[in-house]
Formats: sequence, C-alpha cells, structure tokens
Amino acid sequence: MKSKERTNAMRRAARALRKRKGGRGKVEVAWEFVEGGFEDRQYVAVSEIFEPFEDGTTGYEPGNWFWCMHCERAYPSGSFKRNNQDGLLYCPYPDCSGDIVLDARGWDLLLDSHEDYPVIPERGTVYPLYGHGSK
Ligand SMILES: [Zn+2]
Repeated sequence: MKSKERTNAMRRAARALRKRKGGRGKVEVAWEFVEGGFEDRQYVAVSEIFEPFEDGTTGYEPGNWFWCMHCERAYPSGSFKRNNQDGLLYCPYPDCSGDIVLDARGWDLLLDSHEDYPVIPERGTVYPLYGHGSK
C-alpha cells in the first residue's frame, strides 16, 4: 500500500531528524511529518483552541478531513508537519506553508458548496473553493 510506505518513510525521516537535533549547535529548519498524531501534545492543544460544535466534537478527532486554504488540498485529521524552530503544526504537504489552525477548514464545509466533491477526499488532489478539483 502506497500511503503506508510513505508513512514509514516519514517516520524514518522524523527519527533521523530527532537524532540530528540531539547534537548541539545550529539547528536547521527541519520538519517532522506526523500521521495519526492524535496524542501529540501540540495537536491536543490546537484542538482545544476552538469551542466544540454542538455534538461536543471539534473536528480534530480521528476520521475527519481538513481542507487547506493555502494549497486547497485535503488531509486527514491527525496529519501535520511540525516546524522544529517554532514548534507549531502545519499543513502536512511538504510544499505548503498553511497551518492547521488558521488555514484549515473542515472538509464538510467544502462539501456544502460542492456536490461533485467526494465525501472522502483524495490526498494530493487540489479541490478549489471555486470550480472543480484537479490532479
Ligand atoms: Zn496546505
């Protein structure tokens, strides 16, 4: 399974990053890619920023999808990349600078105005707010 391979590659990269950070000296900007990081302290803190919806959820629970306003791609809850300098969590796509607080919207919001979008979005697909998705 492709996404599993990628997840493993990300874990290896994150481990290598932690090792490198262990050495003293200049810290380079580096990203830690996390999948399923629901127990992550920063992730939990982010999820507590918002008032819960009527049903008590915040959207950061497992099984939800976010849509990034910066790159217009979707990613599952629990996925993010951490900046080792500011410690903040960002959109999990390597080439995007959106963060998971200000730039994330629930996928449900996109579905409200796009009947042609899938209930479960595909990773890597651009889903414009206006117009149609493209690969
Ligand atoms: Zn993004």
